[in-house]
Amino acid sequence: MERTLVLIKPDAVQRDLVGELIQRFERKSLKLVGIKMMALSDDLLDEHYSHLVGRDFFAEIKTFMRSTPIIACCWEGVDCVNTVRTMCGITKAREAAPGSIRGDLAMSVQANLVHASDSLETAEVEVARFFNANELFAYEDVVNPFVYSSREK
Ligand code: UDP
Ligand code: MG
Repeated sequence: MERTLVLIKPDAVQRDLVGELIQRFERKSLKLVGIKMMALSDDLLDEHYSHLVGRDFFAEIKTFMRSTPIIACCWEGVDCVNTVRTMCGITKAREAAPGSIRGDLAMSVQANLVHASDSLETAEVEVARFFNANELFAYEDVVNPFVYSSREK
């Protein structure tokens, strides 16, 4: 079973969309295995956005991500890295597909409500970056037999 990192960004916290976003992932039948509110440090953001060093918006995105505490979540499910990316929609929210989080709820490239890991390898690194091992939970998911067929697990 895959795990992926979702960050509910400052714009979502300010716009009172935390519940809506968590509910979307819950209703999809993803399993919540970790969640916490965090004020992000400059060092952590340097690491998290290292692929964007040198881009003209690098300083701005860090200032934005430090403007308000965020909610970090770890979700679990079959193929959940790709599933969550699809649910979030493309980076430029005003062009994101209707039905996606960004497509339904945002207009900006920067203030696009959520971060989601973009590959299985990235997800493993990012989950470990934001969560200590004792902040992630393995527990029985009693509805699991009704979420997946036995051959999908
Ligand atoms: N971003 C931005 N301007 C851009 C591209 C990205 O402000 O031209 C911000 C935006 O918040 C985005 C984040 O930087 O979500 C990380 O960029 P990435 O390309 O990884 O997009 P994502 O994976 O979030 O869709
Ligand atoms: Mg990204």
